[in-house]
Amino acid sequence: MGPIRPPSEAQSLLIRVTRNCPWNQCEFCHTYKGETFSIRSVEEVQKDIDQIKEIADEIRELSWRMGQGGRIDQTVLRRFLSQPGAKSAAHQMVAGWLYFGGGQVFLQDGNSLMRKTDDLVAILRYLKEKFPSIQRITSYGRARTLAKKSVEELKELRDAGLTRIHIGMETGYDPLLQYMKKGVTAKEQVIAGRNVVASGISLSEYFMPGLGGERWWREHAVDSARVLNQIDPDFIRLRTLYVRPNMPLHRKVEKGEFTRPADDQIVEEIRLFLDTLDGIQSTVVSDHILNLLEEVQGKLPGEKEKMVGIIDRYLAWPAEKRLQFKVGRRLGYLRNLEDLDDRNLQLRVDPIIQEVHRSFRQEHGRPASDGEIEKEIQVLMENYI
Ligand code: SF4
Repeated sequence: MGPIRPPSEAQSLLIRVTRNCPWNQCEFCHTYKGETFSIRSVEEVQKDIDQIKEIADEIRELSWRMGQGGRIDQTVLRRFLSQPGAKSAAHQMVAGWLYFGGGQVFLQDGNSLMRKTDDLVAILRYLKEKFPSIQRITSYGRARTLAKKSVEELKELRDAGLTRIHIGMETGYDPLLQYMKKGVTAKEQVIAGRNVVASGISLSEYFMPGLGGERWWREHAVDSARVLNQIDPDFIRLRTLYVRPNMPLHRKVEKGEFTRPADDQIVEEIRLFLDTLDGIQSTVVSDHILNLLEEVQGKLPGEKEKMVGIIDRYLAWPAEKRLQFKVGRRLGYLRNLEDLDDRNLQLRVDPIIQEVHRSFRQEHGRPASDGEIEKEIQVLMENYI
């Protein structure tokens, strides 16, 4: 199994059809750094599918023996996983997958769409033949690759069972795409997105709030929205930038060349982004733990006002209340603005803020600024995500 999948694929069976990322240069991505890209042969992937089938049959047999009629409920799951030989990652994944209905599959890794169309079609057909219960098969795809695939090829993939493609657009602002070494232009992003939409495959486009830094946040928000306005994807997913030490971008941060905007600045950026989205019917989804305002989601155009309203409500709060919310959210105590009305939650958050001030006073002889508290919380969040 590869290292990642989109948050929306948490219940999916993971099948690795390539290893790692063929591009592997994006400044903000650490996932495959140091790893070599390779394509797995169709036969090798089919062997994986055969093995998955064997494990699935074993679990279903156990369910029948237990009088559960082939259903995989918690009792069957527990009994199966307690058997010697059922401890491998593959056994656990298949068991969990069947428990959640066995209907969804995600093809790994970073750009499965770069495989020859015929090979991918062969894999999809084999998968559907072995598991007729599968209703949804999705994959990551790079925009540059998809801009070169014809709509006919994509339709072949759709007919073979590929139902959704996730593209990491991240930004639609060309100077930023270059700066982050994304290896794609805004124009290619548009062609790629339109190809997928024209093929009838569902499309998720990812926008990365914060990626423009303090320097380009406006251009990043506006041009990204303009690219999406030309595509009208089914989903626009928000995934806020978080700079980890193992990302190339971290070196730019250390040199003072790049500054991630503060959380409130990013919230304003998302507001500008939403405001610029126009003439499309996409559903905006905020399904990543790194997003501060998780409830900013809805279907365009009707729910745009509601989403912007949540942002305006947050921005109108006094700084102290916004800080309480940020701390509570980053530590996983709360999710929505209303949650902060809970006095018990406030009682958990306030001592943490006070503790950061206390240790700051000890070390620097003064209380911490809001920005410094935010930085401390980011460090705590690193353990949490
Ligand atoms: S194309 Fe995707 S997986 Fe590859 S380096 Fe860029 S962000 Fe990471």
